Amino acid sequence: MSSLQIRNLRKSYGAVEVLKDINLQAESGEFVALVGPSGCGKSTLLSIIAGLESVTSGEVLIGDRVVNHEAPKDRDIAMVFQSYALYPTMTVRQNMTFGMECRNIDKATQDATIARVAALLQIEPLLNRKPGQLSGGQRQRVAMGRALVRDPKLFLFDEPLSNLDAKLRVEMRSEIKKLHQNVGRTTVYVTHDQIEAMTLATRIAVMHQGVLQQYDTPKAIYETPANTFVAGFMGSPNMNFFSGQVTASGAGLGVVLDGGGPHVLPLSTGHQTALSDGQPVTLGVRPEHFSPAHAQRAARKGHASVRLPVSIEMDEPTGAETILMCRIAGQEAITVCEPDEAPKPGETVEFEIDMGKISLFDPKTEARL
Ligand code: ADP
Ligand code: MG
Repeated sequence: MSSLQIRNLRKSYGAVEVLKDINLQAESGEFVALVGPSGCGKSTLLSIIAGLESVTSGEVLIGDRVVNHEAPKDRDIAMVFQSYALYPTMTVRQNMTFGMECRNIDKATQDATIARVAALLQIEPLLNRKPGQLSGGQRQRVAMGRALVRDPKLFLFDEPLSNLDAKLRVEMRSEIKKLHQNVGRTTVYVTHDQIEAMTLATRIAVMHQGVLQQYDTPKAIYETPANTFVAGFMGSPNMNFFSGQVTASGAGLGVVLDGGGPHVLPLSTGHQTALSDGQPVTLGVRPEHFSPAHAQRAARKGHASVRLPVSIEMDEPTGAETILMCRIAGQEAITVCEPDEAPKPGETVEFEIDMGKISLFDPKTEARL
């Protein structure tokens, strides 16, 4: 097992720079999720770690060894790709032992390893089948098994679940989590699925256009996103962004929304540092922190909340919760609430914003204030 460090990494294809000064460190045993929209450079970064792509500048370290010039086979890495590419004419067992045979591992060790990994992945009954006789999820497990027989320093996954249907994806997500808890290898896991990232990772690296936007724990990424891109990318439904400005109100500072009339949203003391009267801000509010007003709930939470009239435009019941499209001070908003509490389209009701949970961003730089 090993730590991983990426130092000042840049990668260009011709004139196009696809990775821009990436710095990232994973401790030994960590599970790092690399997320971001399609084309932001996730696979390129993973391929560079694996040694399948060269760097333009910068360093990759596995443990304390710079591996820039080491061939993939010397880096002691196992990789699982989106397309699992099993050998169709070989059985599951042969698919899994093939790599070990190439490395001249003795037969007894091979058998013991297959037994251990097959038990872990619950694929023992499938060992004598060929890939054509397996379901998508079973094939994915075998691909994972082929990587796990390696016992490498690093596991690299590139969107391994994106070809699976929704139900199987959730099952496999739990399998991967269990696997990491049991085996505990340092892992870099690429996904464009923010739920996968939130549920699996010890730390999440959010990328956008080749730039690492934020690298932190799932909780910190969710609660204190570094900028509006991270805030909008992580969380579903998306965080609401309202435009407004800071105003001095009574004891401290508050925010008035553009078009929001006299309502002042009081800022908690933690948010007030480095803000000044009249400063334009983007107010970020997660859907779950913006809900129909209930006096008791506000009191229970014990921090400032404020009530505002909100007009409901559309509702989307999902079963467990109802998503509401609405308008607050003329600005579009989205929220979720309990189906029983959901107001109906056409109604105007009082909502409260949980001011202890908001984020503030600079409208120009989009950075967190
Ligand atoms: P992601 O995995 O996040 O979807 P990629 O790492 O595959 O993104 O690609 C990042 C960017 O680099 C994209 O704009 C892609 O078109 C470009 N790119 C990837 N591989 C090559 C290549 N071999 N030659 C030129 N451009 C490439
Ligand atoms: Mg990719």
